Amino acid sequence: MKKVHYEEMLCKSALNHVRGMPFKWSLNPYKGCVHGCHYCYARRYHKFLDLNAGEDFSGIIFAKTNIATVLRQELRKPSWKHEQVGVGSATDPYQPIEGRLRLTQQCLQAFADHATPISLITKGTLIVRDIDVLSTLAAGPGCTVCFSITTMDEELARRIEPGTPPPAKRLWAMQQLVEHGIHAGVLLSPVLPGITDDLSNLEGVVKSAAAHGAQFLGTKILYLQPGTREHFLEFLESEYPHMLPAYEKLYPGPYLPKKHQTQIQDRVQRLKVLHAMESVAAPAPNVERQLTLML
Ligand code: SF4
Repeated sequence: MKKVHYEEMLCKSALNHVRGMPFKWSLNPYKGCVHGCHYCYARRYHKFLDLNAGEDFSGIIFAKTNIATVLRQELRKPSWKHEQVGVGSATDPYQPIEGRLRLTQQCLQAFADHATPISLITKGTLIVRDIDVLSTLAAGPGCTVCFSITTMDEELARRIEPGTPPPAKRLWAMQQLVEHGIHAGVLLSPVLPGITDDLSNLEGVVKSAAAHGAQFLGTKILYLQPGTREHFLEFLESEYPHMLPAYEKLYPGPYLPKKHQTQIQDRVQRLKVLHAMESVAAPAPNVERQLTLML
């Protein structure tokens, strides 16, 4: 197993004011993510720390150990307007170190104490530990939890997102939350053209999400910003060398051409209809957009 180096750091602010997104605030207790998804858009942020977007992103993790204290100071300010905060917008708030440090848990308690609604995205099954505080948020200011799932195929998941809990366990965790009255669902995201976009893979996720009581299902196609792009293409070269030329052609820029995006979106939409997911209440449009933008 790969050795992970953890570093503690002190943050000056807990809430990040986000521009150009449909939400104003985000909070990330960690930098870097041991889940190591090869497509992760946050890989490029490690470059801002003079680290690389490859091994360093999943092997050098920073923990903001004072984040809950700083957050409480910010939430106590009379100017705080109790706007929704996106938790884990850059890295997974339930990666394994959270089991020991409990930074996400402490922040959720602060949000509950200060009547602040949250949305959260994760692949971590550790989230079930925090069902109590999530239930408090759900019954009060509001709480939406999205589980990111790209495939139900465990072997494929291990290849493209090597440090994550198996997809079936993520759905199990989602179901626990739903059964406790927490608004939780699935983001089938990101869809990787030629790797996870076939009908049978997409149907595996939609069908399983429906069977586990997902309250919504959103989707988003892979996008490749500089930083993430280099790492992902290296991954393809090593694991799917035959796909590399097609990706270089399909992704001259960060986004898949619109017509291919529409084909995939239509495929997912048809599957939602087939599995009676189309009428399932979606999160508020801004929440769904926020969460799909994260991946
Ligand atoms: S996609 Fe999410 S779980 Fe995967 S490495 Fe990025 S932050 Fe971690």
